[in-house]
Amino acid sequence: MNRFLFIALVSLVVAVPWTHAAQRRPDEKAGLAAIDKAGLEAALRTLSSDEFEGRFPASPGESRTIEYLSREFARVGAMPGNGSSYIQDVPMLKIANDRKGELAFSGGKAPLALSYGDDFIGFTSQFKERVIVQDSETVFVGFGIVAPEYGWDDYRGLDVRGKTVVMLVNDPGFYNPKLFRGRNMTYYGRWSYKFAEAGRQGAAAAIVIHETEPASYGWEVVRNSWSRPIFRLDADAGADNAGRCEMEAWITLPAAQRLFSAAGRDLDLLRKAARTKGFTPQVLPLRMSIAFGNTLSRAVSHNVIGRVPGADRADECVIYNAHWDHFGKDDQLSGDKIYNGAMDNASGTAALIELAAAFVRLGAPPRRSVLFIAVTGEEQGLLGSTYYVAHPVVPLAKTVAVINMDSMNIFGRMKDVQVTGYGLSDLDDYARAAALRQGRYLTPEAHPERGGFFRSDHFPFILAGIPALNAASGVNHRQRGEEWGRQQREEYGRRNYHKPSDEYSPDWDLSGMLEDIRLYFSIGYRLSMGSTFPRFKKKSPYKDIQR
Ligand SMILES: [Zn+2]
Repeated sequence: MNRFLFIALVSLVVAVPWTHAAQRRPDEKAGLAAIDKAGLEAALRTLSSDEFEGRFPASPGESRTIEYLSREFARVGAMPGNGSSYIQDVPMLKIANDRKGELAFSGGKAPLALSYGDDFIGFTSQFKERVIVQDSETVFVGFGIVAPEYGWDDYRGLDVRGKTVVMLVNDPGFYNPKLFRGRNMTYYGRWSYKFAEAGRQGAAAAIVIHETEPASYGWEVVRNSWSRPIFRLDADAGADNAGRCEMEAWITLPAAQRLFSAAGRDLDLLRKAARTKGFTPQVLPLRMSIAFGNTLSRAVSHNVIGRVPGADRADECVIYNAHWDHFGKDDQLSGDKIYNGAMDNASGTAALIELAAAFVRLGAPPRRSVLFIAVTGEEQGLLGSTYYVAHPVVPLAKTVAVINMDSMNIFGRMKDVQVTGYGLSDLDDYARAAALRQGRYLTPEAHPERGGFFRSDHFPFILAGIPALNAASGVNHRQRGEEWGRQQREEYGRRNYHKPSDEYSPDWDLSGMLEDIRLYFSIGYRLSMGSTFPRFKKKSPYKDIQR
C-alpha cells in the first residue's frame, strides 16, 4: 500500500483507545504483560529474514524494513512520531568504492604492492569520483593521537600536510595502565577519531594497522564493514566530509610488517616506542601511491519513529532507541551473501515494537511522551542517531533520557546487567533499582578496552548532553553460571559479529532478551511517570554539556 495513505489510515484507528482511557491511571503490570515471546520472535524472524536483504540503507531491504516498522508501530497502537508520519528522512551521501586499488609503496628496499581485501581496505569519506594519491611521504605517528589532557601528541613538531600517516589501533592505555584511562578505551582509541584527526592535520591518507586484540575484532570484520558502499551525512547535518583525508584505510598486521621491513624499520620496536610518553613520530623512507574510483549518489535513508503521547507532561519525552540497519548483501561473497544482522540489531529493533506495545497497553497515557526510534546508519558511523540529535522531533531540552538497545541477549536469563559507561549518569540508579526488582545486579561492562561506549547510538545523545543508557545482559547465567555465559558470548562474537552468519535461529533462548526488555520498560516507565530530569554524575566528563 502507498505508505502515506496507509499511515493516514492507521493514525485514525490508533487515536481511538486513548479517548476512553484518558481518565484512568496507567497500569504498569498490563504494560509488562504485553511484552511477549511470540511477538518478539516474529519480529526477530521477519527483520533478519533473507527477504529483508540485510537491511542496508537506501536499498530495497530498507524499504521493506521501514514499511514493516511503520506497520508494526501502527498495529500495536503507537502514533506517528514525526508529525503525521512515522518516517524521518535522513539525507546521505553514498560512496561506492570500485574495490580495485592497489596500495603501492616505493623508495624502500624493494617496491611493495598491497592488494585490496587481503592486505588492506581503503575508502574515502570525501564525495569524489576518483581518489588519487601519488608518491606521498609516509610517516609513522604512533597512535595518531593529540590529547593535551593526557600530555600526549603523536604529531608533535610534524607537518603532515599531503603525507600518509600510519598508526596503531586503540590508545596507549591498552598497554600501560598508567597512560590515558588504562584499559578503559578513550575516544582517542577509536578509528573514527584517528581518521578525523589525520584529516585535521591535513594528511592525504591515514592508515590504521589492524591488530585483533586491541581492535577487539578480526580482519574479516574490517573487511566486511568497509568494503561495502559507505554512507556519510550530508554537510547540512554538520558533516565535514571535505576536511577528511583523500583516503582512509586499514592494513593487516602482516602487511604492516612487510611495509616496515621495506622501510628498513622494525615494527615491533616502533610499536613499543609508541607506547611511551615523548615518542617521536618516524618519517619512513617510503612513498605511497593509490588510485581508485567511486560511484557516487545522494540517497535518503530513514529513521522510523513511533510515539505514545503523554498526559500532563506530553511536551517532554523519554526515548527508546535501536538501529535497524546492517550491512546488506554482497554478491561478491561466496556462499551466504546476506548480512542478516539478527543479533545486530534485529534484536533491538524487535524490542522497540514490544516496548511500544507495552506503553500502549498501559491503558492510560504516561505523564510524559515516549518515543520509539529505529535509527538508520549506525553501522556507517552512528549516522541516523547523529542526524536525529541535529533534527530532534522533541526539543533536546525536553528530552528526559535515552535507552539504547544494540545486540541483545540470546543465551537465556542472566543475573547481571552490564552498563557501558557505568557511573556516568543517574540512569544507572534507575537501572539498578529495576534490576533489583528482577533479582539482578548492575556491573560495569566487561570489556571497556573495546570502546563499546563509543560504538552505538547512545553516544550522539550523550554528546548532546542527554543521559543515555546502553546496557545489556551480562554473562552470569542463572543456571549455567558465568564461565558458560562468557564463552557463549565470546564465541558468538568471534563467529558471527558483522558476518553473514549472524542469523536468527529457533534455538535462541529468548528468555533473557524478554527479561531485559521488561527491565528497560520499567526504567522507561518510571522516567515517563516522573517530573525530574536524570543528570550526569559530578565526575562525568559530559556533565557540563548544555542540551
Ligand atoms: Zn554492528
